[in-house]
Amino acid sequence: MTDQMRRIALARRPEGQPVPDDFLLERGPVPEPAAGEVLVQVTHHSLDPYMRGRMDDAGSYAASLSIGETMIAQGVGVVLASRAEGFAEGDSVTGMTGWASHAVLRGGELRKLDSRVPATTALGVLGMPGFTAWQALREYGRPKAGETLVIAAATGPVGAMVGQLAKAQGLRTVAIAGGDEKCKLALDKFGFDAAIDHRAHGDAASLRKALAEVCPDGVDIYWENVGGKVLEAVMPLMNIGGRVPVCGTIAWYGGGASDKLPQVWRSILTKRLSVNGFIIFDHWDAFPDFLDEMTPKVAGGEIAYLEDITDGLDKGPETFIAMLKGGNTGKTIIKV
Ligand code: NDP
Repeated sequence: MTDQMRRIALARRPEGQPVPDDFLLERGPVPEPAAGEVLVQVTHHSLDPYMRGRMDDAGSYAASLSIGETMIAQGVGVVLASRAEGFAEGDSVTGMTGWASHAVLRGGELRKLDSRVPATTALGVLGMPGFTAWQALREYGRPKAGETLVIAAATGPVGAMVGQLAKAQGLRTVAIAGGDEKCKLALDKFGFDAAIDHRAHGDAASLRKALAEVCPDGVDIYWENVGGKVLEAVMPLMNIGGRVPVCGTIAWYGGGASDKLPQVWRSILTKRLSVNGFIIFDHWDAFPDFLDEMTPKVAGGEIAYLEDITDGLDKGPETFIAMLKGGNTGKTIIKV
């Protein structure tokens, strides 16, 4: 094959927030599939906040990337050559391709895409982020009609799905998002009942005051996506018996966990809260049920979604760095 494979590798470990020099674009021959393997031409790959953790050496719930290794990502693409049963040239598939133009994966590591919906939905609304929302809301949020749910990063793929599922179950949904445009999207596209711009509030006390106004009956579910100032603002507003599914703490992914944590911790006691950390990778058994239920709803327009697609594999590092700071509007995707 004359084509070249391009991939983005981890060049070095970031200190704090990643910078472009932490990544390296490499070129090489397109790999050949061995018996049982499939060669995929990647058309799009996902960018997700969890990838920041994989760049560190520190032990976490998943293995670190090695220096020189291709950055991890789920991708979608088309089969170029197959030596695995069940896959043929031209099939649309998804798997952990990495930030790369081509990937060789075992047949068992790939899934064929559903033609009722665009391929890129497998990375967001009908992929890991959407599934995270669907699974953890029912398991750890335990929503009940009439309750109030608050969520930050509300227009991202996790937040938008949590908001829509909660709203459909009769909850009052309150979005926290960065900037006017995202607040408007939260209200108009994702049906939140209220939206607050966290950037307009310099500290937690000011944000809490604004939240209290739009949560007159307190907060029953705080879906934790960000940590930091938002966490500090919401916790004292929790109702007794409230639930806090702890999904992510992106405000701290570059370091700097707040020293206000002890105050937040006390709210867990005084409000008798159920705080559940979870990692969606432990729940894959339920993924087929999620797809069965949600694919027709996405195909029929009942569930709205938004994708932020950047053209060019080489744009991955800057797009990822921007996403971690809120530069994305919707699910962040690279068109390879
Ligand atoms: P998004 O696409 O929503 O991107 C991240 C968003 O976080 C940014 O757009 C920004 O939104 C917001 N943000 C960044 N920094 C801050 C800050 N300091 N304060 C407040 N908001 C901030 O991400 P996802 O929907 O993919 O993921 C949401 C969260 O869920 C992440 O923390 C992620 O790590 C976590 N996650 C956890 C999983 C698990 O298994 N536990 C699985 C999947 C995701 P804005 O501009 O609106 O502030």
